[in-house]
Order: sequence, then structure tokens, then C-alpha cells
Amino acid sequence: MMRALRLIADWEPRAGYTPSDDELETHRTSSGSKVWRSPRLELSDLPEPALGEHDVLIEVANCGICGSDMHMYESDADGYMLYPGLTRFPNIIGHEFAGRVVEAGTRVRSLRRDDIVSVEEIQWCGRCTSCRRGYFNHCDNLEELGFTRPGAMAQYVAVDEKYCWKLDPIAERTGSAAEALTLGALIEPTAVSYHAMFARNQRYMPGNYCVVFGAGPIGLAAEVLALAAGCALVVVVDPSASRRRTATALGAQHVLDPAGQDIDEALLELSRGRGFDMVVEAAGAPLHTVAPLRRSLNVDAAICYIGRSERPTPLPLEDYQVRRVQVYGALGHSGQGAFQNVIRLMAAGLLNLRPMISATVGLGEAPAAFKRLESREDAKILIQPNA
Ligand SMILES: [Zn+2]
Ligand SMILES: [Zn+2]
Repeated sequence: MMRALRLIADWEPRAGYTPSDDELETHRTSSGSKVWRSPRLELSDLPEPALGEHDVLIEVANCGICGSDMHMYESDADGYMLYPGLTRFPNIIGHEFAGRVVEAGTRVRSLRRDDIVSVEEIQWCGRCTSCRRGYFNHCDNLEELGFTRPGAMAQYVAVDEKYCWKLDPIAERTGSAAEALTLGALIEPTAVSYHAMFARNQRYMPGNYCVVFGAGPIGLAAEVLALAAGCALVVVVDPSASRRRTATALGAQHVLDPAGQDIDEALLELSRGRGFDMVVEAAGAPLHTVAPLRRSLNVDAAICYIGRSERPTPLPLEDYQVRRVQVYGALGHSGQGAFQNVIRLMAAGLLNLRPMISATVGLGEAPAAFKRLESREDAKILIQPNA
């Protein structure tokens, strides 16, 4: 048996939402916020996961609480889950983690006992049309660790070896497996930002100016990546004072409170009248972040859209045409080496993400940590299921 944190919710499709036959049969839905009601956390004793022949059993060292975890836990006025995406409950949540391999399936080739790894959350199949075109994040048979499959807020998790990335380079650099297992829990969210900024947007050049909206973990990772990549100016915008303090500690040249500002004007001035080359939207509030930008976009600017929002947003397309602006929708972290390169950057000492970690707690304290995160004051809280 093992200790695990499960998210439980009631299947009660909203009036006006008709689930498909498949959804009715499997209770697996791509419209979480339309069907799941009264989400709640429960600490349980569950059987250890069964091991497939291509799987490794991982003893989880650290697992971060993500914004998506919060949105699965939080509900609206009618009691419906905020998270709008692919989900199936009850499920063990948690997908930003690092751990140690304790057992390997009979056909595992790339890993063995005692290897330390970080793991992709996107459980791509490798066989569908999207995967065969190289678009793993858009797999037609997508499963997501901690959303539709048992995740890592548990003592053990079983995953296919093909989703694992070894942390040895970080352990060698820091001289500590424990440190590699801590930083390793930050790789997944950092790879999401990396994928958006350098894989989706392939026009980045050192010396570019970058503005990041949102100083949650994804935005902070984008900030640190921009600095590591040689952006000559990195500006972070966030309404929360404590998050702005973390952004300042991580090295941005300017950190702005958007309240009461003409953000387009402020950014135009900071960019010496030229505008920014890369905009990272990690706030999920495009109406207040991307939509107001006009003169603060440089010619050939790239807007990397990572934040999630179901609200339609009017965008100034005329300005985009005149300024040759491109908008990149970006999702996930699989393919094109995002995990590999984030691990390399960490091992080279180029990504200082440590200040993002605001607390580390045991599994028993996890429900209280979720409660505390409701205020969005903390950056990243790590859970240690085996502490
Ligand atoms: Zn996440
Ligand atoms: Zn696929």
C-alpha cells in the first residue's frame, strides 16, 4: 500500500451540456469545468501501481503544486470545477515531479534501478496522426499524468520509460542527488515555457527584448529562460506584490504592477521607443495583457500565448499586420528536446530557479498547502510524499 493524494469530484454535467457516449461510458472528458462538481482532496491508502513491461516504478521525491492542480481543486459559484480541460476522477493528481527508479519492467531498456528522473506530463501515444507529424502535445489519444492517469502526489508512480529524462547532469553539477531531485520538480513547468519561447517561436535572437505577463511559476520560468538565452531586456508584469518580489529576485531588469498603468505606454518607454521582440503571456488574462499592446510591439514581434482563458479576446490585427507580429499558441512540453535542454541549462548553472520554491511540505500537509495557495501569494510549493 502507499499514501496518495486523490482528487474526487461528482459527475454532474451542467444543464445544457450533453456528454458524448464515450464521456458517459468512461467519465473521461475534455470539458472538466462542464461536468465535475464539488471537487475535493482526499488522502488515501491505495495499492502500489502495477508495472507494465515498458514502465518504471518511481519513488517520488518532490512534486510541485501547479496552477492546473489549483484549478481542479477550486470551484465556481455553482460548485463546478474551474479547470476546463481533459480530466477523469477520482485520480491521484500531481505532474511536476522528480524521483528515483525503484523497479523496471521487463522490457525497459534506457533506465535502471536508482536512476533519478523527471517525467513528461503529456502521455503521448507515438502512433496517432498528430504524433506521427511530430506534434506530441496534440496527440489524438492524449492521456495526462495527474489528470487522466494516476499522478505523482503519491509515494509511487508508474510511467513508461519513454516519458523519463535522467537528472544525472544536474546531480553531477550540484554534487547532490537530493538537489537534483528538488530542481528536477521544476523541469516540467520550465519546459512548458521553453517550448513556447524557443520551439513554437523560432525567431528568437540573443539581444531581443522580452516582456513576460504573469509571475506565477510558468511566467517566472519564462523570465529565467529569457535571461539565460541572452535577452538584453527582461520585464515582468504582475499585479501581486509578493510575486513581483520573486520576479525581482530572479533577475528581471524591470518588474511592473499593471494597476493604474497604460501598459502599452509603459512598455514602449522601457523599450526605448522600439517595442518588445518577444511577449510571453503566462497570466491567462489576454484581455488585459496582450490586447492592449500596440506600439510596444517591435516589428517582427512574437507573442507566445501559454496562459489559458476561455473568454474570447479582441486583438488589434491591423497593428499585427503593420508590425509583422506573429501570435503562437503553445501548449505542453513534449518534442523538440525541451526537457533535454532545460536539464542541460540547469546542469550548466544557467537557470537559477531556486528562489521560486517557497515551501516544501509532506503529503499530510498537502491539503493545507492547497488552501494556502488559494491566495496565489506563494510561487511553488513542493510536496515530498516520502519525507
Ligand atoms: Zn503543471
Ligand atoms: Zn498520439
